[in-house]
Amino acid sequence: MIDYLRQNVRLYPDEAQNQSFFRYAGAMRWAYNEAKAISDRYYKKTKKTIPEKYIRYLIRQERDHIESYAWLKEIPYHIIKKGVANYCRARSEFFKGKKNFPVFKSKDKTRPSFYQRTDNYRRIDRGHIKISGIKTPVKVKFNMPDKVYDPYIFFDGKYWYLSYAFKPERTEVELTDEVIGIDVGLKTLATVSDGRTYENINRQKRILKQQKRIKHEQRKLSRIYRQNGGDKTTSGYRKQKSKVKKANRRLGNMRGTYNHEVSKDIVSSRPKTIVVEDLAVRNLMKNRHLSKAIQNCGLYDLLSKITYKAELQGTQVVKASRFYPSSKRCHNCGRLKKDLTLKDRTYICDCGEVVDRDLNAALNLRDYGLNR
Ligand SMILES: [Zn+2]
Repeated sequence: MIDYLRQNVRLYPDEAQNQSFFRYAGAMRWAYNEAKAISDRYYKKTKKTIPEKYIRYLIRQERDHIESYAWLKEIPYHIIKKGVANYCRARSEFFKGKKNFPVFKSKDKTRPSFYQRTDNYRRIDRGHIKISGIKTPVKVKFNMPDKVYDPYIFFDGKYWYLSYAFKPERTEVELTDEVIGIDVGLKTLATVSDGRTYENINRQKRILKQQKRIKHEQRKLSRIYRQNGGDKTTSGYRKQKSKVKKANRRLGNMRGTYNHEVSKDIVSSRPKTIVVEDLAVRNLMKNRHLSKAIQNCGLYDLLSKITYKAELQGTQVVKASRFYPSSKRCHNCGRLKKDLTLKDRTYICDCGEVVDRDLNAALNLRDYGLNR
């Protein structure tokens, strides 16, 4: 069951606020890098790991006693603290063997973002919120909740957003007795056992057009890069770089919106139970050629959207075991077809059943839910 959902709400900062946002995001990145620099130096000298507390103490010393660090006095301290904490967390994840050793965050590759203290967030009225460090209220066009969890602010290349977790309210609706199975895939994005199908967005004209646009802008970027002898600091390069970012951002938004629409439509028949695969995708991921396509159409994203929308209206979501042969089994007689390949779009069984491959899988998933 879901407890929290995360939501991004666009902010409308004025020019002064916009500048502060960038300054805070820069400070957060700086704090991370400074923590790494201090930590690395300390280790070189002592062969020991410097505690987080001591890093913070050293940064405060710099701030209070060194002229060139005086700008830190204008940055809310919790931002610096969080930057240091993020570095220390990355460091301990490395020690646990989970991640690579943390590297410096470069300006080009880091999404500008900064941390907002939960207890300092305040909803002022329908259109404004208070953000720590910013004296004037920041405009939003959304009726914000009074309480948010784990908020932070980020820039997506075009706009600023407040990201936060919240406890969703359940909408109780009357459900039918139906159990439906959903097969997700590359050819058809989703096939429902009741016959509904949703095409893969990558086949839509507007997506292909947008992908073309991205390629075009990227080629232009590398041309500018070559012409400037590899200089990434020219204004021409920066401008083009932001064009590429915006084009990518738009493609991402189109995909996200589509998954919202599809998941909304799927749960709108208000079934009692929905059965989905426990990502057979994982097996597909092992196939290198397919993995990119899978990431593109965001099957993971789709299934998580279906799940939370279903659960919010009280529909139970069942995940069929990864070992349940939903595609290789004939839904009519139960025979297994071991040599079924991805190329076989139609399932033809010795029992006489001829059925679309994805629909056969969806029907098997439905039966998995019925026979539990
Ligand atoms: Zn059969």
